[in-house]
Amino acid sequence: MKLEVVTVGTELLLGYTVDTNAIDIGKTLAAAGIEIVRRQSVADRPEAVAAAVKDALERTGAVLTTGGLGPTKDDLTKNAVARLMGRKLLLDETVLKHLEERFRKFKRPMPALNRSQAEVPEGATVLRNPRGTAPGLWIEDEQQRFVVMLPGVPHEMRGLLVEEVLPRLLARARDLGAVGVVRSRTVRTTGLAESAVAERVQHLEVGFAPLTLAYLPGTPGVDLRLTAWGLPADEADRRLTEGVSALTAALDTRCYGEETTDLAAVVLDLLRSRKERVAVAESCTGGLLGGRLTAIPGSSDCFVGGVIAYADAVKTAELGVPREILDTFGAVSEETVRSMAEGATKRFDVACSMAITGIAGPGGGTPEKPVGTVWLAARCGSVTQAIGRLMVGDREEIRARSAQAALDLLRGLLTTR
Ligand code: AMP
Ligand code: MG
Repeated sequence: MKLEVVTVGTELLLGYTVDTNAIDIGKTLAAAGIEIVRRQSVADRPEAVAAAVKDALERTGAVLTTGGLGPTKDDLTKNAVARLMGRKLLLDETVLKHLEERFRKFKRPMPALNRSQAEVPEGATVLRNPRGTAPGLWIEDEQQRFVVMLPGVPHEMRGLLVEEVLPRLLARARDLGAVGVVRSRTVRTTGLAESAVAERVQHLEVGFAPLTLAYLPGTPGVDLRLTAWGLPADEADRRLTEGVSALTAALDTRCYGEETTDLAAVVLDLLRSRKERVAVAESCTGGLLGGRLTAIPGSSDCFVGGVIAYADAVKTAELGVPREILDTFGAVSEETVRSMAEGATKRFDVACSMAITGIAGPGGGTPEKPVGTVWLAARCGSVTQAIGRLMVGDREEIRARSAQAALDLLRGLLTTR
């Protein structure tokens, strides 16, 4: 079953409101095996709403709208769609009673404006909305093409979607003989660029069909999402499991988890299972790495603390980095980062540590050490591993990538030890 989504609201186009409704609808319907083939956002203008809904109806015959069902003048989805479908608006006594009761319950007089919310396009099904004043509406024509209108307020929209719309859509899909689901699994990688990931896995893609493979690069790394479209649930699950195994085998140590797994949580689990504790020494990340670790619930049993060693004097005084190392090799160097990692384990009396020093920019770069130059170290017992990397992106990205790379370095050390 294919469906189009139209989200209505000038605020969505101006960028003041993030279109979370479209995201919610996408996830919820995909999980139920209903495929969204297109989505649009339009302004609060009747001709814009009518045009978008008309085109979508002609293409798929199944349209879901959100927004523009409120009582004010800028709420005109209902009128535009009723006119498009050639329906009069009639006062629905049940909806009116529900509205009046709602205002009575909250001990407020009902403004005359709200009466318009009790008007329903002739022949439409009213979808009861216990969370707000605007009910959802389902209009269908003689050819069984339909438009479902839901309010814009996200929690009202979600409630109606799950309780009223989804069961009706699933019943229709069954009537059409559909048995398929849309299901995805995600493999998370870090430390490889998108093209390098592709080099390792692209030979698998032919074998994945009819599953699709998406490369999703982000600051933490490249996520690979395999999706099964419209297959029976058991076949989708089987093929996804096979696909994930093939991907993880090809990417080997570059994979750190699935779905929304956080690398910091992976590292903490490794530390926990080895009964080790960890400290951090951070220069250019200024606490980001500690932030990543402490964001994970239960981190206190492995993470002890750290030093934000931004100034050279702090690197020396708090971490014992020798003055000569800083003078000879510079603050952003392998020698310094190794010394920082060692200093952190001593200072906090722990077996493991991570250290970061780099040039996050936008200023401070030199031809030998351009912006994005970062040295990272991980230490475990008597072994220190250090790497120099040239991170791409702006200051925020360089810092975020550095924290992720440091976690990855310690992960490597813990898994090979
Ligand atoms: P409306 O039903 O158009 O009056 O929308 C009511 C409120 O819901 C608006 O003020 C927005 O804050 C919110 N809203 C509307 N559409 C969306 C959307 N697509 N995603 C997230 N929030 C929305
Ligand atoms: Mg609106």
